[in-house]
Amino acid sequence: MDISLYKNKSLSGTEKLHVLENLWAPSSNYKFPATTHGKQERKFLYSWLQKYKWLSYSEIENRAYCTYCILFAPTEVDMRSSQKTGQLVQEGFQNWKKAIEKFESHSHLQYHKHAMIDLNSLKTVVEGKMNPIDRSLDVGKANQAKENAERLKPIIETVIFCGRQGIALRCHREYGDFNLDAMPDDNEGNFRALLRMRIEAGDEKLGDHFKSCGKNATYISWNIQNQIIDACDKVIKSHIVKDVKDTFYSVFADETTDVSTQKQFSLSVRYVSHNPKDGYKINEKFLQFVPLASTTGQVLGETLLKGLEECNLEIKDLRGQGYDGASAMSGKVKGVVS
Ligand SMILES: [Zn+2]
Repeated sequence: MDISLYKNKSLSGTEKLHVLENLWAPSSNYKFPATTHGKQERKFLYSWLQKYKWLSYSEIENRAYCTYCILFAPTEVDMRSSQKTGQLVQEGFQNWKKAIEKFESHSHLQYHKHAMIDLNSLKTVVEGKMNPIDRSLDVGKANQAKENAERLKPIIETVIFCGRQGIALRCHREYGDFNLDAMPDDNEGNFRALLRMRIEAGDEKLGDHFKSCGKNATYISWNIQNQIIDACDKVIKSHIVKDVKDTFYSVFADETTDVSTQKQFSLSVRYVSHNPKDGYKINEKFLQFVPLASTTGQVLGETLLKGLEECNLEIKDLRGQGYDGASAMSGKVKGVVS
């Protein structure tokens, strides 16, 4: 069975395993035909097969293929990673001069990794003992989830760094591909510049991520940045609320308008915490901005109560209020106070 015969075929699990078991492979003394590149003659090297277990040599075409991708990522555009499969999958590879380079980059591609997972899952199922659906999902998904989490780590750390330093993540020019090979002409914003600096300083994992990820899985879009910020917000808020829950608290709030002229309520709490090391400590912590529909005392008051409820803080533990002198806030009859 020659690997090139299985291009673009949709095979069942059993058929795939049958191909894997019966695939023709050259012996160590096989004479590979030479191809000329300019003045130089080059051949496929047997040692490549030993180094890259996924590699197959097609005798019919004198070209190289990725066995696993042929069987498990057979379409022109891989469905999960949206990456184009191209050489080693759709067509054989023969540029022997660039072989190692090509094989190395191929082993880091998302669809290739998916293919390896699928192969392992299929083997696990066939080897019996296991509930096919559960186990194959378990093994594959757990590995993938672990890898994705590793990929996200430096990106999350960079978002947190910007947050701690109080610097903006983006600027108005942050768009387009994140090209690691060339410095951008324009300021690309702090977030991208920090990622670039990490990679230049030797963060290989992050560098590999951008080399191997699909175009829709870079995890650095503004949308993902915002999701990470939201997640950080939830974690921080849960810590504050846990502290407040142990004691009584005061609330202080004011209405503000953000740059987009959206009126909002800024909600903060003041409370005393105690631990053996630091003793008693007064804390003032910002909780959240709540969008405002109107600025009458009634609406402001309801918004405040809603905001506290969202944070899971109970009104029965509220012991003080702090607002500015505007009647909507401090009015004894219709203000938030009442
Ligand atoms: Zn592959």
